[in-house]
Amino acid sequence: MALMNCPFCRKRISDRHTKCPECSQSLDQTDDEQAERVIYQQQWKKRRLMQYLQFATVSIFMLGCFSYWIGLNDPNSWQAMLGKILLAIGFVGYAVLRIRKLLSK
Ligand SMILES: [Zn+2]
Repeated sequence: MALMNCPFCRKRISDRHTKCPECSQSLDQTDDEQAERVIYQQQWKKRRLMQYLQFATVSIFMLGCFSYWIGLNDPNSWQAMLGKILLAIGFVGYAVLRIRKLLSK
């Protein structure tokens, strides 16, 4: 039994598998072109998910600004409280996404 790298997820697996136990891609008819296509699709899905998440955190942040602005006259109003919470969630979420992106390079 020898070990090899799965062409799809790059994990170390046995060469006896016909299907990767990590990412469950079929290994018996892998040509490079097919592997490249699957990797490209996986990266594309991941990029799209990150874009959605970034959009969501920015939206939450904007909503927080708006709610905080409505509650400006009364700092103890629920609008101001909600605004602060949304600002914090949006800011932290966006920061986490940026840091994750930096670390994954
Ligand atoms: Zn795999």
